Amino acid sequence: MAAFERLSAECDSEEIGARAVRWALQGSVDAEGVCWLSLDVTADVPMQCQRCLGSVVVEAHGVSRFRLVFAGEEWGDEDLEDDSFEALEIDGPLDLATLVEDEVLLALPTVPTHTQCAMPAKAGEQVEPVVEKRPSPFAVLEKLKRN
Ligand SMILES: [Zn+2]
Repeated sequence: MAAFERLSAECDSEEIGARAVRWALQGSVDAEGVCWLSLDVTADVPMQCQRCLGSVVVEAHGVSRFRLVFAGEEWGDEDLEDDSFEALEIDGPLDLATLVEDEVLLALPTVPTHTQCAMPAKAGEQVEPVVEKRPSPFAVLEKLKRN
């Protein structure tokens, strides 16, 4: 995570440690010969709670679908109205690191807060950072599997 400069700037730098951004990229070509990329990113991002100013770990999860548009390629205007994907112009090697970082940044809350802030610590008491998790789609799947 520390390798991403823009993301690091959003982080609580003391808590960043060896945290990682997990990502998966899948490419496909449809029947019409259009090239697609699906990007899935997940990261536990330490941020500063805007209510109590303590550390809060936010689970950022983003999924995006890109239609690859090669330089000089014509593509219909109707695509602009479809917001289930973004057009990605390819004009050389793909800058995957930037794409992954953008995705994490987009998934971050504008105002990170704990759902419930810990009470102010008494003198000499250690405050544990409270881990906040949005329900991940995988957790939902796990529940379905179990039932
Ligand atoms: Zn808080």
